[in-house]
Amino acid sequence: MATDTARVKILGTGASSRAYMIRDFLHRSDVPFEWIELGNDEQARAEAGVTGLHDKRLPVCVFPDGARLECPTIRQITEKLGWFHDPSRSEYDLAIYGGGPAGLSAAVYGASEGLSTVLIERCAIGGQAGSSSKIENYLGFPNGISGADLAERAREQALRFGAEILIGREGVRGEFLPGKGVGHLADGTKIVARATICATGVRYRRLNLPNEEQLLGAGVYYGAGASEAEFCAGEEVFVVGGGNSAGQAVMHFSPVARSVAMVIRGSSLKETLSQYLVDRIAASPNVRVLHDSEVTAIEGDEALQSIEITNRQTGDRQKSEACRLFVCIGGDPHTDWAEDVGIVRDKAGYLVTGPDLLQGNRLPESWPLERSPYYLETTMPGVFAAGDVRHGSVKRCASAVGEGAMAVALVHRYLAGG
Ligand SMILES: Cc1cc2nc3c(=O)[nH]c(=O)nc-3n(C[C@H](O)[C@H](O)[C@H](O)COP(=O)(O)OP(=O)(O)OC[C@H]3O[C@@H](n4cnc5c(N)ncnc54)[C@H](O)[C@@H]3O)c2cc1C
Repeated sequence: MATDTARVKILGTGASSRAYMIRDFLHRSDVPFEWIELGNDEQARAEAGVTGLHDKRLPVCVFPDGARLECPTIRQITEKLGWFHDPSRSEYDLAIYGGGPAGLSAAVYGASEGLSTVLIERCAIGGQAGSSSKIENYLGFPNGISGADLAERAREQALRFGAEILIGREGVRGEFLPGKGVGHLADGTKIVARATICATGVRYRRLNLPNEEQLLGAGVYYGAGASEAEFCAGEEVFVVGGGNSAGQAVMHFSPVARSVAMVIRGSSLKETLSQYLVDRIAASPNVRVLHDSEVTAIEGDEALQSIEITNRQTGDRQKSEACRLFVCIGGDPHTDWAEDVGIVRDKAGYLVTGPDLLQGNRLPESWPLERSPYYLETTMPGVFAAGDVRHGSVKRCASAVGEGAMAVALVHRYLAGG
């Protein structure tokens, strides 16, 4: 258990999206932190050592060793934590893109089975699961486990087996030659590997409303906002979405918030939510579900101030004061890199693998080998997909973990020339 002095201190203003990004990153990475919201210029001068609330050096992060970073990027924080590394090899057996449950599982199995393995993660380890306050249906944790805790355990396990983890790096393009894949990262680094697993999951969908970008992190948040619950005491919180991630967010906020409004497009939660969450929501007196509704406007200057909710049946519009809106409406896979190299995707952009590639018993013409693609193999031999990014996958932690492990078994077969 970390002591208070071992915490990273973040000092900033409530409307700062940079401060939110930092809190979110540290929370997902299971790094203890203390958030100090500065209320006036005097406090900013005394506690953060800046000229006032509008000083561009905010937010300020103070690390347990006394080091101070002013308005740091996630990469600078990663470097300060000692997590930012260059690849140690010029070539690996296996490169895994994405450090969610699927990628972490692939890293554990790949490294433990003797493959030189590198995992590349653009943000924080844990992926979507890392943003979950409590995963209750993962085998072996009868009382549930926070996504951040699960991710940190998996990270440690992968490192213990010798996997290399590169955090804060993003794969942007691939080049595939027979027997070799070259991943180009956003910072210009190249990763060469004999086999590749794409475990890049999905990215949160947006509401696509005016002001959304500007208010992101300043009252509008994507995902369940696991880092934010303790700061919502006494507030009315709005959660958009009717799926399990939205349901979990509602249950996470309801014990601390004054009230929680869940905005859903459908007419019933039963169609989209697991029964255990339907029951808990029904039993929570401070939760109200706004059926047949959608958020149609968000307003605020520096931070969110109000939202407009429209009833889809009647067309009635209602404006409510709001300072926190959590958007949990699923995600899209963002696999444009695959299209550039001719890897088959479905209409929504998910990577198609194995038997799903068959159309009327025929494989796509781009498949170059005599053998059929393995179960999780894409149309590029040696490039596998695991977890949420894969067409037809079950969008659950356990299945992502299972697919990560299975992909490694298929990588062995591929590397053995089978
Ligand atoms: C709030 C919430 C609660 C949930 N609760 C549950 C639950 O209780 N039980 C359950 O079974 N499931 C739950 N899920 C679903 C579950 O988390 C997902 O199915 C699972 O995380 C999918 O794992 P994945 O590894 O395939 O993808 P993800 O978790 O999406 O991870 C993908 C990772 O890839 C990284 N990435 C993406 N592109 C790149 C790139 N180009 N380069 C490098 N890295 C990249 C991302 O940053 C991310 O870390 C929940 C999801 C959410 C959002």
